Parts: sequence; C-alpha cells; structure tokens
Amino acid sequence: MVMSDLFGSLVFNDTVMQERLPKYTYKELKSCIANDTPISLTCATVIANAMKDWAIEKGCTHYTHWFQPMTGITAEKHDAFIQPTADGKVIMEFSGKELIKGEPDASSFPNGGIRATFEARGYTAWDPTSYAFIKDGTLCIPTAFVSYTGEVLDKKTPLLKSMKALSKTACRILKLFGKDVSNVTTTVGPEQEYFLIDKSVYEKRKDLIYTGRTLYGAPAPKGQELEDHYFGTIKQRVVKYMADLDTELWKLGVLAKTKHNEVAPAQHELAPIFSQSNVSSDANQLTMEMMKKIASRHGMVCLLHEKPFEGVNGSGKHNNWSMSTDKGENLLEPGDTPEDNAQFLLFLAAVIKAVDDYQDLLRVSVASAGNDHRLGANEAPPAIVSMFLGEELDGILTAIAEDRTYSKRAKCEYEIGVSSLPKFTKDTTDRNRTSPFAFTGNKFEFRMLGSTFSIAGPNIILNTIVAESLDQFADELEGASDFMAAVKALVKKTFIAHKKIIFNGNGYSDEWVKEAKKRGLLNLQSTPEAIPYFKSAKNIALFEKHGIFSALEVESRTEILLENYAKVVNIEALTMIDMANKQILPAVTTYIKELAKTALATKELGFEATAQTAIAKKLTKLCQDAAKSLEELSTKVHKAETIADIEKKAMFYRTDVITAMDKLRAAADEMEVNTADKYWPFPTYGAILFSVKD
Ligand code: ADP
Ligand code: MG
Repeated sequence: MVMSDLFGSLVFNDTVMQERLPKYTYKELKSCIANDTPISLTCATVIANAMKDWAIEKGCTHYTHWFQPMTGITAEKHDAFIQPTADGKVIMEFSGKELIKGEPDASSFPNGGIRATFEARGYTAWDPTSYAFIKDGTLCIPTAFVSYTGEVLDKKTPLLKSMKALSKTACRILKLFGKDVSNVTTTVGPEQEYFLIDKSVYEKRKDLIYTGRTLYGAPAPKGQELEDHYFGTIKQRVVKYMADLDTELWKLGVLAKTKHNEVAPAQHELAPIFSQSNVSSDANQLTMEMMKKIASRHGMVCLLHEKPFEGVNGSGKHNNWSMSTDKGENLLEPGDTPEDNAQFLLFLAAVIKAVDDYQDLLRVSVASAGNDHRLGANEAPPAIVSMFLGEELDGILTAIAEDRTYSKRAKCEYEIGVSSLPKFTKDTTDRNRTSPFAFTGNKFEFRMLGSTFSIAGPNIILNTIVAESLDQFADELEGASDFMAAVKALVKKTFIAHKKIIFNGNGYSDEWVKEAKKRGLLNLQSTPEAIPYFKSAKNIALFEKHGIFSALEVESRTEILLENYAKVVNIEALTMIDMANKQILPAVTTYIKELAKTALATKELGFEATAQTAIAKKLTKLCQDAAKSLEELSTKVHKAETIADIEKKAMFYRTDVITAMDKLRAAADEMEVNTADKYWPFPTYGAILFSVKD
C-alpha cells in the first residue's frame, strides 16, 4: 500500500468526515470543537451513523468508548452494533446517544474512595477533538470518564481542562501584544524507550510475567560498557518488528517518525512527530499498546517497565512540550522582531516561574514505584527538578537582570523590545542531557517521565502551572501604561526571583545535590515522599482556581497514587518470596547435594575434594542468608498489609519492605554466580539481554 493510502486508513479523520458527513453536520461539528460547545443530538446521530457505516465497511462489528482511567492504561468495553428486529434478525445500529455517552459499570476502576459501589456507575463522554479509530475490528471512540456525581475519574478530562486553562491565560497575554488569537494549544512529542526480549526467556521468568521487571539477576559479563548499542545497527529481527510497528501506527494516524537503538542492550526508542497534547496522549497510549502486541507477533516481548534490569539503563519518556497559537505560531520560538522576542521572553519567564513555584507538582507527576529506580540513579535526571536554558539564553536573562545589554562576542546586542534575539540552534541549547527540564531551541523537554507513564499526568501539571504564571502576568500587565517597559520589568523580576531553579551543570553529580539543597530546592527521592505534596493547600488552591481538580479529586488521586505504589511493591515482594521458595532455594539445594555427592565420591577414590566442598560450603551459607532474609521479608510484608494509613503504609514499603527485598536479592544473585547454569532455574541476564538475535 502506498503511504498516502496507508496513513490514517483506520482513523475517522477530517478527510473521512468531509467525505462522509453532510456539509452542515461537518460544519456544526467543527464549530462545536472550535467554540467548545456541546454537540446537538441531531448532529451526533448523523455522525454516529456515518462512523458506523465507515467502520462496518472496514470489517468492524463492535464499538467501544476508549478511555483512560486512573490505572494509567486504557480501558475498553466492546458493544456490538446489533439491534434485534421484529422478524428475529438484527440490524447494525449506532445512535447519536451511544456515540456521545457510554455507561460502563466502572466499580472496579481506582477512584480513591470517591464512589461507593452502590453508585458505581460512571459515564464516558465523547472527546470530539481526538479522532475515532479502528483497533482489532472495533470502532474506538476516545472519551472522558466521569462519575455520576460529576467527579472526574480519568486522565483525559483534566488534560483537556488544563489545555483550556492555558489557552485562556495565554490568549490574554497575546492580546496585550496586539494579537488576535482565540486559541492556544499545547503540543507534545513524547520519545518512548522500550526493551525487546525473546518470548522464550520471558516465559521462564515469573518476575517479568508478574511485575514487568527482573527482581533477581546477577550482571551479565557484558552490559552496556562498550557503548556499542546506542544508535548501533539494528538487528534484522528488530528491523522487521519496527517496520511492522510503524505500519500499524501509521494506519492509526500515529506520526511515528524516528527509531533507533538505545544505550542498554536490547533497548530501543521510538519518537513521533509532535501534535496537540490530548491527541499526542491518545497516540502514545496506542503506541505502547501496539509495541506490546506487535512484539508478540514477532515472538518477542516488549518491556515498557522503567527498570527491567539492574545495572543497565532503564527506560524513560521525554516529554517535548510547547505552546502554539491557532495561527501556527510556536510561543517558545524566538521571533523575528523585537516585539516578538519580548513576547518569547515573557512566555519563557512564565515557564521558569511555573517550574520553580511548582517543583513539587512536577516531581509528583513523575512519581511511581517503577520510576523510583531511575530518578536520581546515574542514568536519568535526578529527583531534583531544575531547568537548563543553554548558555546563550542564560546570558541574555542574566544581562536583563543586571540591566546590561547582552553582548556575545560583540556579535549581538540585546535589549527587550528594542533589539532582536538570535535564533537558538539545537546545538547551543541541547548540550546538557542531565537536566530534567531543558530548553531545546523552541520547546522544553521534560525528561523525568518513566517509560510506562501516561503523558496525560505530567502534561496536566505543566499546562496548569504555566497557565497560573501567565494569569499572574496578565493581571500585572493589563493595567500597565507603558506595556514594553512593564514586560521588561516583569521578565527581570521573574528571572531574579526564580533563577535558583536554573542549573546548567551536571545534574548527575553529588555536588549538585549539595548545591540544590543550599538553594532550597526540593529533593523528593521517592514516591511516598513526593506524593503527599500533591494535596498541599497551595496546590489544591491552584487546581481549584483553574478548574482542573476539586479538593476531593486531589484527595482521591493522592490516595490512588499511594495505593498503587504500595500494591506494586507488595506484588514484587510476593513474587520474590515465591521465586525464592519455589525455584531458587530448591535449585541451589539440589546443586549442593550434587556437589556433596561428588565430593564424597571423589574422596572415596582417595582424591582431594576441596573445590566441591568450598563451593558447597559457600552456597550453604548463602542459602542460610537467603532463608533469613526471606523470613524477614515475609514478616515485613505481613506488617505492611496491616497498616491502615495509606501514607504510612507506602512509606513502610519504601523503608522496610524494599530494604528486605534488596537483602534477599543480594544473597540470591551471589548464589546465581556460584551455581552451574544447568541448575539455575531461570534465564540469566546474559540470556535475556542478548536473547534477540539476528
Ligand atoms: P531528540 O530529543 O532525541 O534530539 P528531536 O529534537 O528531534 O529529538 O525531537 C524530539 C521530539 O520533540 C519529537 O517528537 C518532535 O516532534 C518534538 N517537538 C519538536 N517541536 C515541538 C514542539 N513545538 N512542541 C512539542 N514537541 C515538539
Ligand atoms: Mg530527547
């Protein structure tokens, strides 16, 4: 199939709508989207019918409201189009009402105590700004998920709300610059990392099956030290997988663009072309789903966990973010005129202020049990939120703060509202890969996200906190008599007040931890430490002001996040116990028996058996250590399960359960090193990381 026929062939996109909808229906839909007004039932009925016909022509029998509950993954419940007729047959029907609203019984989705089960029903409402698409013979309708009493139960609704909040405040600012803009949208391009391993090794590891990561495993003789995998030649089997993945994603209208090998063995990356945040968020969910499905077709398993293997890099997701007007102007792109550059600096200042004022929320937005293994480890940006602007931009802002005109090697002078900014090339802005939040020429790259994350969460926060800065700026600027002077003063004031958040050095170094502490920056090292910040009075006030979350919704989300953390660690601990009891200890004991038997036989022949005895002795000691750690871990897990207060419970998992898990693992990994391959009960790191061959 040629690309023009392939791309978006499974999407009910604008072209299809123009072809299939009566002109007036198409126009009404467009105007409802532009003005954010509800779609009439008459209009929805026509659209539903056109969607159904299109979907049936493509082989569909079912439809589903595709939504994103707080689990962070997507949910779907399929309904057939069939309607019985009087003559005992069926016709295929899909009504406007069914399109607009679905009513899944949603009592089993996380709700953080918002809904009692007797009022368990939630409803899903169509998001007409994200196109419907076909997946596995089902018409999928992107939707929001809300409880009957109106509380938001998903990740999409607040994302849409945050985009609206940002648009409103950004338009206020742009108006002051004399621009007639009615909508500003946020844009995201998420770079997605993942591992591919052979299905045969996956199936032999209970930890991978239950938790998505390895809980045991001594390092392989070869890891990533030769740096030969990053951007290396892609293996044929992986090439075929990637081609298949691209094709399936293109059919779904996902703009998959870049693919390459990553740092760790078996690690890869896929980056799409950016699009508006909610569309990008849907697309990233589909991408993760397709990555897994297609791997299975190729006899492989795609691991999206943040840290599948100890000792080699884990996987993250880089959230490239910007704002853009309905006229196509990127607000983080330095302009061509002095006025535009003043505007650029003002939006930049808004982001700087937002990141500094709400470090805690950004940190919360990337907190999870899986991501705790990365943030702060020597491979991903630290748990401390800071920003990198690049030398040139930093120089300009510093000059403004000090009332100097900026001059870089006398090549360019800069004064707000008077002179022109240089265009920042990627080269001058992208040098620091250790920064959690880096300006990369015409966008910011938020690099703390874990690979499994829904990008909705972090973008809800980003949009809301920048909306807040812009709102404060607008309040201050709207009454100004000399607008340009007021902008200049505001940029100066903001930079001085918030420059502590800017750090251009090595974010992985120990010095930075000390320096950040001196600057008073937050360093929330783990999920249980970070999450409670979500519901601080300052943050609830922010969410309520912009209509993103109510206090009750914040409360419930805090609980869901902590509960999720506790549950994940609990599953990991139970899996470790199971593997130790049922696989590791029996295997090692059998090997010890074999060694002992050999030693006896050797001695009987009159030879020395020191080697066999020494190994048997060492392994016996390690078995005892492991048994002790196992006991300790079991006790801790039982204790954890009895703690009622969720904050205390999560913290106990962090401080006590994880420590016990680490101890057990240390003994087991040492046993692995000393046990013959033949006896070790599951594939080793070497066997897994190099399982995909050409
Ligand atoms: P890398 O960070 O690996 O060097 P690139 O700079 O090429 O990669 O791009 C990273 C991502 O940033 C891509 O997904 C790209 O589409 C996205 N991107 C580019 N411009 C914008 C923008 N204005 N808003 C959001 N994302 C953007
Ligand atoms: Mg990047």
